[in-house]
Amino acid sequence: MMASTELAPQHSPASEIVAVLDRVTKQYGASRALHELSFELGRGEIVALLGPNGAGKTTAIRIMLGLTRQTSGRAELFGQSPRDRRARMRAGAMLQVGRIPESLRVREHIALFCGYYARPLPLEEILRIAGLLGVENKLFGELSGGQKQRVLFALALAGDPDLLFLDEPTLGMDIEARRALWVEVRALAARGKTVLLTTHYLEEAEALASRILLLKAGRLVAHGTPAELRALGGTSRVCCRTALGRAELLALPGVRGAAQEGERWTLTTDAPEALLRALFRRDPALSGLSVAATPFEEAFLSLTGDGAGQ
Ligand code: ATP
Repeated sequence: MMASTELAPQHSPASEIVAVLDRVTKQYGASRALHELSFELGRGEIVALLGPNGAGKTTAIRIMLGLTRQTSGRAELFGQSPRDRRARMRAGAMLQVGRIPESLRVREHIALFCGYYARPLPLEEILRIAGLLGVENKLFGELSGGQKQRVLFALALAGDPDLLFLDEPTLGMDIEARRALWVEVRALAARGKTVLLTTHYLEEAEALASRILLLKAGRLVAHGTPAELRALGGTSRVCCRTALGRAELLALPGVRGAAQEGERWTLTTDAPEALLRALFRRDPALSGLSVAATPFEEAFLSLTGDGAGQ
């Protein structure tokens, strides 16, 4: 796990590498969408690519899919150029909702996509994995937002891909549908499929991914397991009422930040035990104590906020 701009290429722990970006830079005119970005995806991994809007996630995925060419650096898909047709046929990606004709039935859409591939998954299996059994005869335009999202997932699965790019896969789904999709994504990975996921639901990245790659302004600013990234933002939050002032609190062992709201202080730390011992020593009258794990959202914001990782 690391967080600096001088990151070594992010190697995959998997023995078989299915996709590589190696010092990839992408320039759109004068603006640079990716800056010497390097990472690998291994067989059977679920990797989450996270970052604020405009960080370069879509651009990285489009380069891996052979849809956009990098300005410099090397991209590989199954050992080939991503523009190689055989390599591309082994990757599946979710499209954007707006691109799907509304007047075809779910079953017809999936059958159409299956027709593009030499060895598609059986239609019934796709319907089952995507949770579409029961709505297969509805027109796409009649579906709810969450159901449409499941159709996009189904289309990405049609060719039984070895590498699956999921862009905001559970957008608009309720929590039950989201959890059901997670179960299927984990089952795909257990069968040796590789999944690269972008999501704005950090809970989803934490629940699914074995590795997270954090992009900011086209650079990899942090990577590691969800627990490692959480720890980078401070593992715990200690809240209390205390007579100690900001300077004293910041000088306590392991304190990474201190925020005040009325009489209450919230301290972020990755050494809660040492901090609590010191707090009680300095202020025996301390009250209203609570200790909790830092929400992943906060750790994430501290890593992608202004100045983080730069
Ligand atoms: P989001 O979370 O909003 O989808 P993202 O991380 O996927 O964002 P990208 O879509 O890869 O980000 O965009 C990265 C940068 O490249 C942005 O500054 C964007 O404006 C720019 N960009 C993307 N595509 C093009 C294009 N076709 N022409 C010019 N600039 C582009």
